[in-house]
Amino acid sequence: MKKRVAFFTLGCKVNQYETQAMEAQFMQSGYETVPFEDYADVYVVNTCTVTSVGDKKSRQMLRRAKAKNPDAVIIAVGCLAQTNPEMLKSLGCVDIIIGTNQKREIINLIKEYEINRSPVQKIENMMQKCDFEDTPIENFEGRQRAFIKVQEGCNQFCSYCIIPYARGRSRSRKEESIIAEAEALGKNGFCEIVLTGIHVSSYGKDTNTSLTSLLRKISDLPQIKRIRLSSIDPNAFTSDFIAAVSCLPKVCPHFHISLQSGSDIVLKKMNRHYTAADYLAVLDKLRTAIPDIAVTTDIITGFPFEGEAEFYNTLEFVKKAKFSGVHVFPYSERSGTPAVNLAESVPKNERARRAHILAEIAEEYKSKFAAGFIGRTLDVLFEQKNKAGFYEGFTSNYLKVMAKSQTDVSGQILPVLLEAEENGTLFGKITK
Ligand code: SF4
Repeated sequence: MKKRVAFFTLGCKVNQYETQAMEAQFMQSGYETVPFEDYADVYVVNTCTVTSVGDKKSRQMLRRAKAKNPDAVIIAVGCLAQTNPEMLKSLGCVDIIIGTNQKREIINLIKEYEINRSPVQKIENMMQKCDFEDTPIENFEGRQRAFIKVQEGCNQFCSYCIIPYARGRSRSRKEESIIAEAEALGKNGFCEIVLTGIHVSSYGKDTNTSLTSLLRKISDLPQIKRIRLSSIDPNAFTSDFIAAVSCLPKVCPHFHISLQSGSDIVLKKMNRHYTAADYLAVLDKLRTAIPDIAVTTDIITGFPFEGEAEFYNTLEFVKKAKFSGVHVFPYSERSGTPAVNLAESVPKNERARRAHILAEIAEEYKSKFAAGFIGRTLDVLFEQKNKAGFYEGFTSNYLKVMAKSQTDVSGQILPVLLEAEENGTLFGKITK
């Protein structure tokens, strides 16, 4: 009987990608994957520590795994394992702890553990790390779009962020390895790929290449119809970069550009390297160069030094920027980051109150942006059929669309006449 392994992944696209790579290793070692709620011999929780919610959920899933099968091997990997192994050890249910840079050792570490069943820990000092751990994938279970990790680590050190300490300094993957993976995924039926990393804008800076060169080369792959970029720094949008992507039709006209705050005082305290005016200038350049472009963003509310006036600036900024989507996060202290020592902190309930106000305004603009496409016909990559019987998917500018179909259209890019909008989701008719 094959051994069973179950995965639970928290956090970002990079974590999702790394779970796929670990899953491939287990397949090659004769395991079968089962859903996390099922009985398994090994449970792997790919942890996240970006916020206290990530910590809490990671702990919950580890305990849940042990409760499901007390004899199973319980493995914690990822950012929380890297930054706080002691906390995970103190749970008393974790057998193997692996940091952010040793995931390709996971099968060997299980063998090591199974020799005398005493806890195993593999964590490196990430601040000295300079090579990219390349763990190629050929498939992306359960999705119609595949993520490709092109870069690791970050040199930005935003004052609230623990990631540079969890993932180390920025380092890029070899271009030929990325191209080979994109080709393999394309041949396996993935027509859209999402290039991801911890700080994608730093891609190529250490390997004498560039994101533009990579986008051009992937654009030449016939099987790949769409290339999407995951979160990217406002400073990446130079005139040259905008000119380059506006000439690459496969590059999706949707960019997730983290703003974090609309107040220059707060941006300075966050150690973000742009002003609100710089960000708006990027939006203007993008909207001039690329038709139908969508911009989504992240904003933190209640960061230290965010008084009523600063919060008001952020609200007014969001109204001016007309984002097609905003992820709002109440500030969450991360021990070990400079921001925890900042004065002028904002009470937790006030952070949450501001997040609620901002999210409501953002929803209005999301609806307005989507409604602006009613009457148009746009191509949609359908992902799955939902419980309401609609096939749902996304346009290249990341509009969520639902449509009815007699046949299964998952994984296909089809033209849809957009007829109605509800809470930022569009409804339409497949015209092909
Ligand atoms: S850019 Fe800033 S927020 Fe993003 S991972 Fe790096 S330090 Fe964290």
